[in-house]
Amino acid sequence: MADHDDTMNAKPDETAQRGPSQPGTTPAAATSTASVASKIGNAASGLKSWVSARFSANPPFKSGRESVQRYRETVAWQTILDALPAPAIALDANGIVRHHNAAAAALYPAMSTGQPISRVSRNPSFMAAVDQLADASEPIHVELVERVPVERRFYATLARVAPREITPGLPQALITFRDTTEQDKLVQMRADFIANASHELRTPLASLRGFIETLQGPARDDPRARERFLSIMATQAERMTRLIDDLLSLSRAEMRVHLPPQGIVDLNTVCASAVATLEALAAASQTNVTVNALPQPALIRGERDEMIQVFQNLIQNGIKYGHDGGNVTVTLSRERPAGQNREQIVTTVTDDGPGIAPEHLPRLTERFYRASVSSSREKGGTGLGLAIVKHIVNRHRADLKIASVLGSGSTFSISFDALVLQRNETDPQLENKRAITNDKTVIKHSFS
Ligand code: ADP
Repeated sequence: MADHDDTMNAKPDETAQRGPSQPGTTPAAATSTASVASKIGNAASGLKSWVSARFSANPPFKSGRESVQRYRETVAWQTILDALPAPAIALDANGIVRHHNAAAAALYPAMSTGQPISRVSRNPSFMAAVDQLADASEPIHVELVERVPVERRFYATLARVAPREITPGLPQALITFRDTTEQDKLVQMRADFIANASHELRTPLASLRGFIETLQGPARDDPRARERFLSIMATQAERMTRLIDDLLSLSRAEMRVHLPPQGIVDLNTVCASAVATLEALAAASQTNVTVNALPQPALIRGERDEMIQVFQNLIQNGIKYGHDGGNVTVTLSRERPAGQNREQIVTTVTDDGPGIAPEHLPRLTERFYRASVSSSREKGGTGLGLAIVKHIVNRHRADLKIASVLGSGSTFSISFDALVLQRNETDPQLENKRAITNDKTVIKHSFS
């Protein structure tokens, strides 16, 4: 990178109007055709004055025509750089930053045109790659980890642009960056998830194998032991089934998280249906489950099956972790956030169980996170219920909050945007309101 080109030092951006490569302007503008056209238009109008101001004392070009041509070329490649979505930096033959786009400015906020690249990143492998570039016939790839302000991982590709003799106006090197932070995190999460899932399945499987061996061997002729072992084996098999069901639900919820729900759902009837499916569980522990529904349909834009799953998981947890004869209350209310013109439907599921210690609250929606592993296992938990809830809530652009006081109980609240039906909008999925009034002995419904 020893060669030098005066054209590269001539910065049209100093006098002509510059576009989106400056921090604070939008990358979207850079990509628009209008922006490109206006840039070239501006370039043309400012060209005459720029050339005379810039080069009247010491013109670097052989002729005015040549300077105009070079200027146009410079504006053209800078415009292309600005239009790239990935961070891109152009260097001259001396390793000086000649131009960079908005994405590069976001990556290195202190970078400015005219600065040596060595001031932009001090990463040793990156600088070694810059030094090798002059003799490189192929692009050089370097992995970069930037730790400030937050840790991010990039792959930088450094490429020579063109032999100078052919295109003297072009930059000598182009550095582009690919941010792999999110991708790496995802890969790590998947690996952890698979490890956790197989670990969770391995335990009941090992236990099943142990019982099968015992039944084939020492307990072969012991009918009482056989009865006891078969019942434990059935419990383990159920646990594996639950785990597989939850894993499938979680992966379905994850896959759909970016698809906005299309249906219209009445949360009054959803909560009533969720409670109805848990009737037997509530009865087994004499838990009173109450739904305080809204007097009018509580309509939101949503997927009914997913909504039922959310409330089943929350109400089931309230029953499961609460005490015998305890209470689980589901309340729906209509609220208007302060200073806003829209209405929300807020649902709360409250229990009077043992509560959750504050240090666990921020992590409860992580997969396989349990406040108490033994209590979760003993109650048939998989550690995936709240992770499923979180994904579905995210898909519905709703907000989940968890509050708990040790010894008093927990409240899981979700705020949904209330749906205002458009004139003539009807929904085939909208349920019959009758379901709400379908009272059962253990399940009491009342209207607030
Ligand atoms: P699990 O299948 O273990 O119940 P969840 O994801 O539904 O998994 O819940 C994660 C953990 O949060 C549970 O293991 C439990 O420790 C805690 N938890 C969830 N709901 C409640 C509740 N209502 N009361 C007390 N602890 C709860």
